[in-house]
Amino acid sequence: MAKKNSASAKKGKFVYLFGKGKTDGNGGMKPLLGGKGAGLAEMCRISLPVPPGFTITTEVCTYYYDHKRTYPPPLKAQMQAGLASIEKQTGKKFGDVKNPLLVSVRSGARDSMPGMMDTILNLGLNDQTVEALAKKTGNPRFAWDCYRRFVQMYGDVVLGVQKRPGEDHEPFELVIEKLKHDRYHQDIEDTKLTPDDLKELVVRFKKLVKDRAGKEFPASPWDQLMGAVGAVFGSWMNDRAIVYRRKYNIPSEWGTAVNVQAMVYGNTGDQSGSGVAFTRNPANGVKEFYGEFLINAQGEDVVAGVRTPEPVAQLNKHLPKAYGELERIRQTLEKHFKDVQDFEFTIEDGTVYMLQTRNGKRTAMAALKFSMDMFKEKLIDWKTAVMRNPADQLDQLLAPVFDATEAGKAKAIATGLPAGPGAASGQIYLNADRAVAAADRKEQVLLVRVETSPEDLRGMIAAEGILTARGGVSSHAALVARQMGKVCVCGASALEVDYQARTVKVDGKTYKEGDWLSIDGTAGKVYAGRLKTASSEIVAGLIEGDEAARRSEKFKSFQQLMKWCSDATRMSVRTNADTPEQTKNAIAFGAVGIGLCRTEHMFFEGDRIDAMREMILAETVDARKAALAKLLPYQRDDFAGIFRALDGYPATIRFLDPPLHEFLPHTPEQQKDLGKKLGIPAEKIHTRVEQLHEFNPMLGFRGCRLGIDFPEISEMQARAVFEAAAIVQKEGKKVRPEIMIPLVGFKKELDLQLEIVHRVATEVQAEKKVKLSYMVGTMIEVPRGALTADEIAQSAEFFSFGTNDLTQTGLGMSRDDSGSFLPHYAELEIVKKNPFATIDSTGVGQLVEIAVKKGRSVKKDLKLGICGEHGGDPDSIKFFEAVGLDYVSASPFRVPVARLAAAQAALAKAKD
Ligand code: PEP
Ligand code: MG
Repeated sequence: MAKKNSASAKKGKFVYLFGKGKTDGNGGMKPLLGGKGAGLAEMCRISLPVPPGFTITTEVCTYYYDHKRTYPPPLKAQMQAGLASIEKQTGKKFGDVKNPLLVSVRSGARDSMPGMMDTILNLGLNDQTVEALAKKTGNPRFAWDCYRRFVQMYGDVVLGVQKRPGEDHEPFELVIEKLKHDRYHQDIEDTKLTPDDLKELVVRFKKLVKDRAGKEFPASPWDQLMGAVGAVFGSWMNDRAIVYRRKYNIPSEWGTAVNVQAMVYGNTGDQSGSGVAFTRNPANGVKEFYGEFLINAQGEDVVAGVRTPEPVAQLNKHLPKAYGELERIRQTLEKHFKDVQDFEFTIEDGTVYMLQTRNGKRTAMAALKFSMDMFKEKLIDWKTAVMRNPADQLDQLLAPVFDATEAGKAKAIATGLPAGPGAASGQIYLNADRAVAAADRKEQVLLVRVETSPEDLRGMIAAEGILTARGGVSSHAALVARQMGKVCVCGASALEVDYQARTVKVDGKTYKEGDWLSIDGTAGKVYAGRLKTASSEIVAGLIEGDEAARRSEKFKSFQQLMKWCSDATRMSVRTNADTPEQTKNAIAFGAVGIGLCRTEHMFFEGDRIDAMREMILAETVDARKAALAKLLPYQRDDFAGIFRALDGYPATIRFLDPPLHEFLPHTPEQQKDLGKKLGIPAEKIHTRVEQLHEFNPMLGFRGCRLGIDFPEISEMQARAVFEAAAIVQKEGKKVRPEIMIPLVGFKKELDLQLEIVHRVATEVQAEKKVKLSYMVGTMIEVPRGALTADEIAQSAEFFSFGTNDLTQTGLGMSRDDSGSFLPHYAELEIVKKNPFATIDSTGVGQLVEIAVKKGRSVKKDLKLGICGEHGGDPDSIKFFEAVGLDYVSASPFRVPVARLAAAQAALAKAKD
């Protein structure tokens, strides 16, 4: 298989050949050759029809940026040898005036970055070679069309002749328009331009280049090639590429490769064409040949969304032989790569050529179906099937859909292609900047464009959904939406999008920016207004007990995947839940206990907050105890409800943690109100609030410090836990409380709290005449706790890593205030990912590793878990698997993601 035959870079080798003869690379060499280069090499190895070429490695890109944008000295000779090899295989010569070789120059990063990097086609044309091409093909129109496209593309990408700020149109497009008006006094189609028109266009284009770029258009093919290679490397650092890399955490040091390949032409006439296709449907997973093509067009025309392409099945009508060949290739690709492929092809005068193949981007829904179907087809085993579902996309499957009755009643105002499944409603914006601004104002945004381009990426990230009027399933909007898991409808041609007026006209109505539209990316429908959404079949089946939903294929596949996850996983997955309902949901998703119950959340409901405030404001121990006595029954009931919902699974219950001022009334009105209720003067409350004010509350009077200063609080909480346990146990259910002391940095802190917990447990067991089984442990969430874990482990029966606080205290970075500077840190790549979302494994991770080692050096079987937000993050879960934790705990709706990530981490570890 492709991945196995990887090889490391040969020192000093910067150019790798591919083609019919010798192919240097293979599919396993993505880091060195980029995805495109590796895919081309692998296709050559399995004898698929690939035009010959060579790949300049990603190492050259790194060198280029490390050496003031220069190349390693041996590169030139190696490129010349590469060209010679292409010349030999094609029988053409670069720059030759009889039979000229033309090449394409394309970028190719390790991970595909759709639309981010630049491409040059038809390179090698000049005033002489164009004549040769015309003669050779007997088609001057074709030759001059290639030439004018080349000058336009090269002028734009390499020489920077682009729209300037304030200009509405591309300068080259204006030149075309002017020529049409000069010669025909009207707009005509490009295909109507004669060879003579195109010749004149080339002259005008070159003049435009001279005026704008201040230099002549290069005539030497070699100079053209070096310029194009430089532009590809240069584009690695353009804004669009940087935005994309940031979004997908692609390190800038990976660099891009450059592919130079003999041109084949899809635009030589009606026996030719270009297309993109998937071996199966990447939107819904159905096993069908899926894609689109344009007759008499170059590849760029298909993805640009300018002409609307036809579905690939139609090719059978136009060019049946080529279609048959493509079907054969489709089968070969899947058999060889054992995964769904996304490929580009060109048909030149009836002959099919492959220009690219890669694993197809897919929606979560398609990934699930592919994995199940390919397992059934015996293409892959169950472990591979688990790995094929991207954990960070799994929650797409839980995303809401439109309420069926509402969508049934509503009339679709337009229909387009279903490019990204799910349901989204939002206020429409027609430009990325305004979409971002609206999202910043917390509006729900729908980005509406005629078509999208990489410039729209920020807007697409900010939007709930994307709607375009033009473009097919492989248009930029569709590709990016699929990857981001955004709801997307594209090519809804009934929409008249007016950028100037900022309106969308459809179905006889005009919608302004800020008006609501709804899109169904599964059915490809657009609705007016804001439609209600309904649960996905998985949520309906698991949480709402909907029998019809449980019979759906999606539900069954999901359950199968989750079962495999359980078979593969070493770590278990618990949940962070504070109510019986959250607990039930999490268990339905497969959680096997509570990893964190934040008891303070229970103090906010109804009248409880008053008793809580009374407790905080109390001036004597007795007064405090009286207030706590009011809270006890509430807590006891809550815990009993949770124990019942858990039905025998363990519950880690954390004692009071936040700084007390979080519970207090801060405005004079609230203080007056509370004063009245408690019968104390408002000034007294005001003074107490002032007294409790802290400069750094997160580093202040919180965590176990509360229970140490006010032991009666811990006493009440312990009593509530044990009394609830006694009640539920007597009902015949198993109860497994695990009391957890927060923010411990010193063993003595834990010991003082332990004494209380054990004493109360003894009391309650005697009073209720029951024998309870329980554990007491601690959170490890301050560096001192991690560093002295061996001491703490002497007292603790378990550790749970509070990675939110451990990150905050480990980095010395406030978790509540870091939003003001972290985005800039991410831009500068000081941090690769938000450390509050993905564990900083090299820094904070060390604290975790130290605590694991030290803790287990004292107690070999010390139970270890993690309950910070990182417990639901796939990358962090990989780290927790590596350091040997027993479980992760995630919020209820993240539980499936955590289960999948934990299974994948275990499978990956077993493979290493
Ligand atoms: C933590 O710090 O990671 C944690 C789970 O506790 P909290 O978020 O409540 O501080
Ligand atoms: Mg904490």
